Amino acid sequence: MNKNSCKKKLFVISGSSGVGKGTVLKGFLTKNPNFMLSISCTTRAPRRGEVDGVNYFFLTKEEFQNCIDNNKFLEWAEFAGNRYGTKKKYINQCLEEGKDIILEIDTQGALQVKKQMPEAVLIFIYPPSIETLENRLRGRHTEDESTIQRRLQEVKIELERAENFDYKVVNDDLDNAIAELENIIVGEQEKC
Ligand code: ADP
Ligand code: 5GP
Repeated sequence: MNKNSCKKKLFVISGSSGVGKGTVLKGFLTKNPNFMLSISCTTRAPRRGEVDGVNYFFLTKEEFQNCIDNNKFLEWAEFAGNRYGTKKKYINQCLEEGKDIILEIDTQGALQVKKQMPEAVLIFIYPPSIETLENRLRGRHTEDESTIQRRLQEVKIELERAENFDYKVVNDDLDNAIAELENIIVGEQEKC
């Protein structure tokens, strides 16, 4: 089958907070500008420098609940005290237009996507060690101590859920991690 006539696959990237998902994806997207990163909705407050409609659609709790009640989400989850979700309409539109799309979402959301779209490819990003993960999360200076603790508490269950993912990438050396992600995605696209 011709590559262009293949059904587009959804690629889903997950990993614990601070592992480097955003950094690896930024590197991948710079080299592969044909890929689009899905913009999620969240109830969390914007970090310094984050822009509504670019990093996230920042919703109030009421707006988010409204989207749940009206069945607007492909998936949604509560993570460390905030809610995050991916709008169905946006993803379906991208897939219909034949766009290559990546979701960067938590492990609960990733498994929900896989249930609904078994052809979705789930990729989990591992840290080289838990200590490195903690150092990266702290070194980013974007969360206060209680938020860091809440996020670290999620790690064990995230690693358990990762057993059900299709691929693993260890983000030790950044360039290697980007290259590995690229190999996985190109390989999956060639499989058709
Ligand atoms: P996530 O999106 O998974 O929460 P980030 O991409 O924000 O994580 O990365 C967390 C921190 O770790 C950032 O300060 C980033 O610069 C750093 N980082 C990411 N990948 C690496 C790497 N391979 N080596 C060293 N530092 C990294
Ligand atoms: P952060 O607050 O650091 O931006 O994101 C916290 C967690 O929420 C990360 O694991 C991130 O992947 C996840 N996340 C971001 N968007 C979504 C989404 O639309 N759905 C789900 N389930 N998780 C998301």
